[in-house]
Amino acid sequence: MNPVNQRIVLLGPPASGKGTQADRLSDTFGIPHVSTGALLRSECARGTVLGREADAATSKGLLVSDELAVRIVANWMQEHGPRFLFDGFPRTVGQAAHLDAALTSLKAPLDLVILLELSDEAIRQRILERISCLKCGATYSTSLHTHAEGDACPRCGATLVRRNDDTAEALEQRLKVYRELTMPVVGYYEETAPRILQRIDAGKGSDDIFAKLSSLVVGEN
Ligand code: AMP
Repeated sequence: MNPVNQRIVLLGPPASGKGTQADRLSDTFGIPHVSTGALLRSECARGTVLGREADAATSKGLLVSDELAVRIVANWMQEHGPRFLFDGFPRTVGQAAHLDAALTSLKAPLDLVILLELSDEAIRQRILERISCLKCGATYSTSLHTHAEGDACPRCGATLVRRNDDTAEALEQRLKVYRELTMPVVGYYEETAPRILQRIDAGKGSDDIFAKLSSLVVGEN
């Protein structure tokens, strides 16, 4: 299948499946999956200055500054070019405006913005049962899978952990931040690019969601 759409933003609350779906889409269509959260966690793990700056905010469920988020994305785009599946970026209206400006100067506009919608109740349940691989980004549910914290990741062999922001306290903060800062990004695209904005029910089964996303990526809808 030839993807028609190659510059894609996946929006959605924590645990709405952005990372999992972006991974599958990337494997199927060869569009690079870029998670700003994963880029930041990798900086933290390597103990870089940028990582230390990010950790102070991420461990409390707060956003890193727009300046830092935009810098990390600009570095990525300079190296890889303007084909991407963004997962977790943009997270503020300021970041969305920066992305638009950068893409306008490259004459490479956004093709699709997809919002994965999920209830707060489902988010809380998924997050509190989630264990993650910080190396390859895979996530597992302690209730759906047989894996536990400390086990080897079935995909890459690294150790599965609970993310330092997957706690009840940090989650409430992340949900507040999502409502206050990221929901307005949906409004921003409703105003500036309503034709490319699509909404998907993220409470459905993973395969159903993937089928719907795939049809959007190949331009069937
Ligand atoms: P995620 O893996 O997408 O849930 O991101 C984990 C954490 O990284 C978030 O809670 C934020 O602290 C930080 N983060 C990730 N992406 C961004 C962004 N675009 N802007 C600001 N902070 C971000």
